[in-house]
Amino acid sequence: MPLVCVVGGGLAGLAAAAALGEAGLDVELFESRGFLGGRATSYPAPGAGEGEPAIDNCQHILLGCCVNLLDFYRRLGVVGKLVFHREFRFVEPGGRVSRMAAARLPAPLHFGPSFLTMRCFDWADRVAIGRAMLAMRRQRSRPGLDRITMAEWLSELKQTPRAIERFWRQVLVSAINEELDRMAASHGFQVFRLGFLSGARWSAMGVPRVPLAELYGEEAWRRLPKVKIRTRMPVESVADGVTLADGQRRQPDAVVLAVPWERAAPLAPHIGLDFTGWEHSPITGIHLWFDRAVTAWPHATLLDRSVHWMFNKSGGRHIQLVASASRGLAAMSRGEVIAQAVRELAEFLPEAGRAKLERAHVVKEMRATFSAVPDLEERRPVTATSDPRLFLAGDWTRSGWPATMEGAVRSGYLAAEAVCRKLGLTARFLKPDVA
Ligand SMILES: Cc1cc2nc3c(=O)[nH]c(=O)nc-3n(C[C@H](O)[C@H](O)[C@H](O)COP(=O)(O)OP(=O)(O)OC[C@H]3O[C@@H](n4cnc5c(N)ncnc54)[C@H](O)[C@@H]3O)c2cc1C
Repeated sequence: MPLVCVVGGGLAGLAAAAALGEAGLDVELFESRGFLGGRATSYPAPGAGEGEPAIDNCQHILLGCCVNLLDFYRRLGVVGKLVFHREFRFVEPGGRVSRMAAARLPAPLHFGPSFLTMRCFDWADRVAIGRAMLAMRRQRSRPGLDRITMAEWLSELKQTPRAIERFWRQVLVSAINEELDRMAASHGFQVFRLGFLSGARWSAMGVPRVPLAELYGEEAWRRLPKVKIRTRMPVESVADGVTLADGQRRQPDAVVLAVPWERAAPLAPHIGLDFTGWEHSPITGIHLWFDRAVTAWPHATLLDRSVHWMFNKSGGRHIQLVASASRGLAAMSRGEVIAQAVRELAEFLPEAGRAKLERAHVVKEMRATFSAVPDLEERRPVTATSDPRLFLAGDWTRSGWPATMEGAVRSGYLAAEAVCRKLGLTARFLKPDVA
């Protein structure tokens, strides 16, 4: 049986390995770190007590429309470790809550009734948002959406400042991890087409019930015995077969290179990858442990402040906050970030102001995702390379999605399909988008 080497144990590499292994190929996956999951992983919290569960580097969520990610979880037998939520709380400073939940109406009307009652918007905001949603459906195939920013498109549609700040920015900055005036409008369109307008089932929010790394633990890989996982084995080159840092070599029939974009070029200098002008966009995750429960909500989106989401990780005492496109927090010290986060949280959850903060942990992921600016889409590398045995995967490749877990899995499936074609096999792994 042909051997395929996969380099990188993030979601892209894992998805490629799982698909190829299930198709019956021998797969050897090399990951430089001691654990799997790449940017979507978990580890013991600093200062954690005996038996305390690992924490995620940052809360990761998915939507029902992430059909390839869900398919990958199915291969690993871990879909049951996700909880799906169908109600979203938009909370204003001061604590007023607006709920958004799908009604039993056909798409795209399903969010209509709750939208009319959301008190964080007034009538002018609702009318503006409704108009823009209709325009989005009409302009779905409008050429050039990749060449303008989402902010430019919203200004064409004359959105109110509050609609921009509390709706478009709140949803899209978290989904794309970029500001509206830097993000290509095509990405904003995709989020709303698939996640909002296509049907209630596709907008349900999936949250893992277990630390992320448990989703790809040893037990899961026992279902796929053709896949050999090698952790703590950094690869040094894929220019002529695979050369490991410890000097070992492999000459596989095909290689899937699934490392982050800034690492890909040095490992494969012979294929001429060009990332001129590419930039990263950061995400900051803030874990707060209080001496008592500060909320009973499972999660909420927090309006008008630097932090965008809060997740209740354990009985209301361990709260994880997420700030996307968090350039404003980058220059702040750990202490300043924590003080600001607690101050902001107390504006939404008064109990957080009264409770004692026992512990805190800040994760600034400065290279969280690539910055999805206009004119980048066509420059994202495709799977095939000039080396007939080398295929690319990773959330930065041209997967059809922005840098997300779904994008990473799609890229892994596309690479696995290309490997199969090269080896004379017909196999389809990629599931089509829901709309
Ligand atoms: C803080 C944060 C929050 C996020 N939140 C969400 C979210 O809520 N929802 C969502 O969908 N997405 C989210 N994302 C994005 C998502 O995590 C990524 O898009 C996705 O995990 C990328 O997967 P990947 O396999 O392409 O890359 P990576 O996860 O970066 O995997 C690449 C792997 O390659 C390994 N590697 C590198 N060099 C070598 C080498 N020389 N040899 C061997 N191995 C090597 C790395 O160690 C790593 O494990 C978030 C990202 C971050 C950082």
